[in-house]
Amino acid sequence: MSDPPVLLVKAIKVAGHFLVFYPKNPAWAPENLAPLIDACKAIGLLGTERSPGIYATGPEYLGLITYLGCSPQVALGENEAATTIRIAGIFDAPLFVQGGNLKPPRCPQCRKPMGKPVAPARADGKLKCGQCGYSGSVCEFDWRRSAACARLFIEVSNVFESEAVPGEALAACLEQASGEAWDYCYVRKD
Ligand SMILES: [Zn+2]
Repeated sequence: MSDPPVLLVKAIKVAGHFLVFYPKNPAWAPENLAPLIDACKAIGLLGTERSPGIYATGPEYLGLITYLGCSPQVALGENEAATTIRIAGIFDAPLFVQGGNLKPPRCPQCRKPMGKPVAPARADGKLKCGQCGYSGSVCEFDWRRSAACARLFIEVSNVFESEAVPGEALAACLEQASGEAWDYCYVRKD
């Protein structure tokens, strides 16, 4: 198995605010990325590939991602500051992607909030609930949309926490292209 901290550096390279889509099953990954990328291009999420694995927003971007504010500032197109969509993966083992906005998790068994981990959590790490005694993988806990555990991520740049959510069409597309349920979170990389 590869060393997770090295992979983490590869996955989290650019500072900023990200909306991150990921398969709910941390162990799952496709054989290759082509079917997923093709599906995301076909619905207009992905535009031109600006550098390997990093795409401009596609023509339907604003119909697929729902911005919740009344006048969102969304930079589209090809310029330097424009929003990009990065496909990160496929990693050999699940990564726990987190940022400065990491929230204390909830226990998957009793649902009570726990303390924030003092050290950065790792996908192969364990946590124990002080309330009910449940012990399990870091990936099993509910990080309240502030972290993700997966072997594959789709990262949309320039999205502040809770500023935008995936629309139903995008959620359905990801599920259909992969045969897996997906979820999303927000990660602030400092
Ligand atoms: Zn508990």
